[in-house]
Amino acid sequence: PYTNLHGPKQPITATVTGNVQVNEAGTENETHHIVLDFGHLPFPVLEGQSIGILAPGVDAHGKPHHARQYSIASPRNGERAGYNNLSLTVKRERGQDGHPPGVCSNYLCDLAVGDTVQVIGPFGASFLMPNHPKSHLVMICTGTGSAPMRAMTEWRRRQRAGGQFEGGRLMLFFGARTQQELPYFGPLQKLPKDFIDIELAFSRTPGQPRQYVQDRMRARAADLAALLADSQAHFYVCGLKAMEEGVLQALQEIAHGAGLDWPTLGAALQREGRLHLETY
Ligand code: FAD
Repeated sequence: PYTNLHGPKQPITATVTGNVQVNEAGTENETHHIVLDFGHLPFPVLEGQSIGILAPGVDAHGKPHHARQYSIASPRNGERAGYNNLSLTVKRERGQDGHPPGVCSNYLCDLAVGDTVQVIGPFGASFLMPNHPKSHLVMICTGTGSAPMRAMTEWRRRQRAGGQFEGGRLMLFFGARTQQELPYFGPLQKLPKDFIDIELAFSRTPGQPRQYVQDRMRARAADLAALLADSQAHFYVCGLKAMEEGVLQALQEIAHGAGLDWPTLGAALQREGRLHLETY
């Protein structure tokens, strides 16, 4: 991966070529899919990397806003294959309990096609995809944590469409408060079942028991245990910090239930770079 090609003193300018809400309108959590185009300027990225956005204006101390980081939601060859663009999945931070609305997320969600944005990065050299055939991806995410999972899934989907995909299992555990708040619900339904195995968890569906990603993981313990025991399986966790503990606890329990020694297994996953955590 290329990293830190552009710092805050030399940002690169991108042009907005798309900005659509990517969950159902009218829900409390509003999430946008935003496409940025770099024109003729090189900005090489890989799935799992992130970029920094410099919102215009100054903070309460009169200083330029610090950069906010956003995961790239598109594969290495562009949001549209062959174009020099990328996409982001951004949740609007409205500002609760009397706090002001989030600076950068509101700036991004309000952008219009044709607007320009100051970008820094790319960042990240550890949340990357395995690039060998037959490697399995287990992706566990909530909300905008789906961005890197979308990038990886879409890269594999394009490889498969191009006849270059040599197998390897894809499993996605994706949590949101409700189906209406889940980003990319519609497009996810269109992915072939023999391509990706999807478990959705909704924690606030009226009249339904609360389901979190770790509950869906436990429901699929047999499949996850087989993947935990497989040296070709890579695990990715992305979303709010609060999810991390529960997910790791579930993995540990599933390993234990299958007679696998978690301290040994967990250490191997870390050592071999097969457990990737990115929570914020
Ligand atoms: P800020 O202005 O930074 O405010 C943050 C929060 O604090 C807001 O909710 C605001 O209401 C509240 N607040 C403001 N003032 C106060 C105060 N005085 N006291 C208490 N609270 C206050 N986000 C995404 O949407 N999509 C992504 O893909 C994504 N990827 C990320 C990847 C990484 C590696 C990291 C570290 C973060 C990622 N984030 C992502 C989070 C993102 O970087 C921002 O933190 C987020 O968008 C909020 O930024 P903001 O400028 O809108 O809010």
